[in-house]
Amino acid sequence: MARYTEAVCRQCRREGQKLFLKGDRCYTDKCAMNSRAFAPGQHGQGRSKSSEYGQQLREKQKAKRFYGVLESQFRGYFEMAERRPGQTGENLLSILECRLDNVVYRLGFAMSRAEARQMVSHGHITVNGRKVNIPSYQVKPGMVVSLKESSRGIEKIKANIEANAFRPAPKWLEYDANNMVAKVVAVPAREDIDLPIEERLIVELYSK
Ligand code: SF4
Repeated sequence: MARYTEAVCRQCRREGQKLFLKGDRCYTDKCAMNSRAFAPGQHGQGRSKSSEYGQQLREKQKAKRFYGVLESQFRGYFEMAERRPGQTGENLLSILECRLDNVVYRLGFAMSRAEARQMVSHGHITVNGRKVNIPSYQVKPGMVVSLKESSRGIEKIKANIEANAFRPAPKWLEYDANNMVAKVVAVPAREDIDLPIEERLIVELYSK
């Protein structure tokens, strides 16, 4: 399975904002954005003047990094978004949001999307009662996502759920915390997605 291999915190420094890619560490003083909030590399602290293309590119990179998606898959999501009725940018974010690994992260089972991806790959998650180990699996309204019963006693997962209690599930997921089960009740709308992404710039980039 393809994935990013560059140092994770470099991605936040490149985008100039916290992307919360490392779980617990992102909420501590050890976050690289506290001590080195400038772009990596020799010219990272120099004056940066971004062209229109540069801004569009950065926005696309940021979205990919938030969701841990590589270029070819992201492009595929964009094409899927174009085919759907409605606004392409909003459709794109909705498709990304419906990835199973993102759902696991949103439910608080994992501290980061990378950890959520690993949990799905390792078979800790079920959809409609059946194990699904594909992180990119698209959930749809009516589906039921759950933590596998035999995984509920794992200390790390229990600690994640406790640590994430402050982060409520989005309203398009009807979450039953006692049973660690969530029903997808709607397709996520733009206002349900709290990420600072200007999807318009991504559409402009790919429309060139
Ligand atoms: Fe980004 Fe988290 Fe690293 Fe901070 S600790 S730079 S938020 S990945």
